[in-house]
Amino acid sequence: MVSRVIPVEPFDLVIFGGTGDLARRKILPGLFRRFVAGQMPREARVVGAARSELDVGAFQAMAREAVEEEVPRRDGAELDAFIERLGYVQIDATGEQGWSELAFRMREGVVRAFYFSVAPGLFGALAERLHGHGVAGPDARIVVEKPFGRDLASARALNATLAEHFSEGQIYRIDHYLGKETVQNLMAVRFGNMLFEPLWNAQYVDHIQITVAETVGVAGRGAYYDQAGAMRDMVQNHLMQLLCLIAMEPPARFEPDAVRDEKLKVIRSLDPVEPYHIVRGQYDRSEECPSYRADVDGLRSRTESFAALKVHISNWRWAGTPFYLRTGKRLKARTSEIAVVFKDAPHSIFGVEGGRHRNVLSIRLQPNEGMTLHVTIKEPGPGGMRLVDVPLDMSFAEALGPEAEDIPDAYERLIMDVIRGNQTLFMRGDEVEAAWAWTDPLIAGWEARGDVPKPYEQGSAGPEDAAVLMYREGRKWREIKA
Ligand code: NAD
Repeated sequence: MVSRVIPVEPFDLVIFGGTGDLARRKILPGLFRRFVAGQMPREARVVGAARSELDVGAFQAMAREAVEEEVPRRDGAELDAFIERLGYVQIDATGEQGWSELAFRMREGVVRAFYFSVAPGLFGALAERLHGHGVAGPDARIVVEKPFGRDLASARALNATLAEHFSEGQIYRIDHYLGKETVQNLMAVRFGNMLFEPLWNAQYVDHIQITVAETVGVAGRGAYYDQAGAMRDMVQNHLMQLLCLIAMEPPARFEPDAVRDEKLKVIRSLDPVEPYHIVRGQYDRSEECPSYRADVDGLRSRTESFAALKVHISNWRWAGTPFYLRTGKRLKARTSEIAVVFKDAPHSIFGVEGGRHRNVLSIRLQPNEGMTLHVTIKEPGPGGMRLVDVPLDMSFAEALGPEAEDIPDAYERLIMDVIRGNQTLFMRGDEVEAAWAWTDPLIAGWEARGDVPKPYEQGSAGPEDAAVLMYREGRKWREIKA
């Protein structure tokens, strides 16, 4: 059932930051999986470029270790063949070292792509040198990692710097949530079926919940995180992108700009959020783990490791249907889910005994990607008309069996899209700016008010106030469970 793999064109992919954490955990193992699947052609080359003083053998050994760690079931000969295709150039993003060697290594007649897997402060320097040294021509593509700015002003400045050397059509701003199979399936379900779209509006949908819960804390990246917080690190990008896909109008075609135009309209239709519709939290210490403040080494930190918001979209489709967004660290389970909660039937012919039953379409991004539609049926057996909710479950792992393992992970899919030149699943510059334009006043608001995040227990669903946000309107968050 998994579709046939079509190899992409031969390419030279340079990973700036090729020795870093992201390259080791995601990019290199992902490329290996695409190589084994036959999608990365044998003529393709990958060049690690970083500051570390390594020769090609040492880089290949590092890459081998990284792949072995992330891809437990693999064929040794395939791994050897993949590793052979890796090169390395020691380079300084802010200096001149290594650039002529890199220029020399690039081949003519293949796609050139450059993955900026380095700190965002280096993006401008890389763009300038790639252009200045003639390494990247007008057909080259650059892949930019998050965070894309920390507010509207810095995002605009970054867009302007990149635009000095690359056109918008060459810039691939990655949000790996968009590369997930379920996210694309969301579009297939909405726009490929007649069943859902007529109901996909304020008349039939009571509310929508988007939850991205993590069990990890921020230890190890505290210095970065404390400057960002859940709003900048998760809501402005990942949750915003999910919100756009769930709320957007059908694009005329499944083409990059048609899809991104519709997403942009959603962001521009977002209302400012009232302060009492925002809950921020910080995890407390537990018996085993330190508190957020200890993790970031900031005893007075007011940065949130949890955020919950009630958001309104002012357009004809959604006026009156709230969207609840929630994300946090050190929560009960690692899970990402979108739940579309439909309204109650207008009249219950079964009386009060029938109880209150609601259709919920839940779209799971992780773990166990899939969708479930909760429907009401009669409880089987004698004893009258008792109603129960049952899930119509579509777990990809179950539906596809062993082939589910061949579904590419988000990074793999997105890198292949870069090579194919398909920007549909990447954020356009104006989208990112619009998202910051909505986010900035919320952050400025709580900073001006001097709001202090509410403490919450590790392993919980966040602060009590988040539950109240829903409860006072007669609604309830879905349980956070793996
Ligand atoms: P890292 O600190 O592990 O690696 C940084 C890499 O940059 C190293 O290879 C280092 O050699 C290289 N580098 C540093 N200064 C350099 C210079 N002057 N010239 C050339 N190379 C230089 O970082 P990471 O965790 O791999 O993250 C890379 C980027 O990806 C960051 O923008 C980060 O925000 C983003 N990101 C990372 C993750 C993740 O899971 N690690 C997730 C999402 C986004």
